[in-house]
Amino acid sequence: MSVFEHIDGDGYEQIVYCSDDSSGLKAIIAIHSTALGPALGGTRFYPYPTEQEALIDVLRLSKGMTYKAAAAGLDLGGGKAVIIGDPRRIKNEELLRAYGRFVETLGGRYITAEDVGTALEDMDTVRRESRWVTGCSKTYGGSGDPSPVTAYGVLQGIKACAVEVFGDANLKGRNIFLQGVGKVGHALCGYLVEEGADVTIGDIDVDNLGRAVSDFGVKTTPLDSIHAQECDIFSPCALGGGINDDTISELKCKIIAGAANNQLAREEHGDKLRDMGILYAPDFVINAGGLINVEDELRGYDRDRALQKVDGIYKGLQLIFGLSRERNISTARAAIEYAEERIRKISRIRLMRVTEYGPLSAH
Ligand code: NAD
Repeated sequence: MSVFEHIDGDGYEQIVYCSDDSSGLKAIIAIHSTALGPALGGTRFYPYPTEQEALIDVLRLSKGMTYKAAAAGLDLGGGKAVIIGDPRRIKNEELLRAYGRFVETLGGRYITAEDVGTALEDMDTVRRESRWVTGCSKTYGGSGDPSPVTAYGVLQGIKACAVEVFGDANLKGRNIFLQGVGKVGHALCGYLVEEGADVTIGDIDVDNLGRAVSDFGVKTTPLDSIHAQECDIFSPCALGGGINDDTISELKCKIIAGAANNQLAREEHGDKLRDMGILYAPDFVINAGGLINVEDELRGYDRDRALQKVDGIYKGLQLIFGLSRERNISTARAAIEYAEERIRKISRIRLMRVTEYGPLSAH
């Protein structure tokens, strides 16, 4: 397997393989870009069947973080890490601390956070070995679980979509189908009900489903057809790839706006949605609330300031919708172009600053 074959032409800066015999740690850290700042992205702990699959995942995810940070207007680059193995079987203090020491060796070029398979308490453990950790618990100066803030950001994004399609941000009476009521989906469901929306949910996890029904009194629908319901808004908050060759022609919503990462199986699905007259809120723009929230930890966490920045998702999406109209391209492509243009412009300014002051003194 050639690593260079996977990264050639895609601008990746650094791939770090981490191995610790004593704890059994096998991890890969991918730094896609530090053009706008340190590469921040979570640590995914997952039983990848092969090393190649772990590599492909970490590469794809780290590049996505570059776009997410750039589009959110943050001074951050994109990175991600994967720890190979089943977290329920091999996750322990020794392994997480060994991982933390690898993160520390990167001297802040990569900053980690929680992701699938890792949680708040794991970040607290990693932090005992490295300063470069966000998403720690509040007692460590962290901001806690980012999911409710992600949900708040998605709500702002849904309102921006409603203005674009219905000319009104008011969600009262809008029928919304919400796929996945886990950490983000549950909080979003609460927000939508508060706004007076008519919400129907679906989830494979009966406990999560039951919790949302009892907390918010919402209706449920069978999972296999949740994407195909005639409604105002379809909100994917489960896993990625839900908009694909099989599902796309069945969609009957006016807006797709949810938290899930990588909602479109391929970029062309964004073009097809545009042709179908469905407004798509690009996932990495609408779900950036969690990233914006942990970024705030880097300057001493202030929840009000973080939420104020998350409010910016509303304007950010309006900007993307404007670009999409102006350039006659899908919103998905407009978001990518916007992120790439910001990286080009701002990284040039950062470079100018370095040359202006000369190389850093050794003293
Ligand atoms: P989670 O695991 O807490 O919740 C996911 C929910 O989706 C679970 O209840 C699960 O049972 C359900 N689900 C899984 N497959 C399903 C299916 N086929 N149909 C219906 N439901 C299904 O995860 P989360 O943290 O709430 O994240 C949800 C999505 O948002 C993920 O794609 C995640 O990558 C993305 N995201 C999360 C955050 C965050 O702050 N947590 C930030 C950005 C993006």
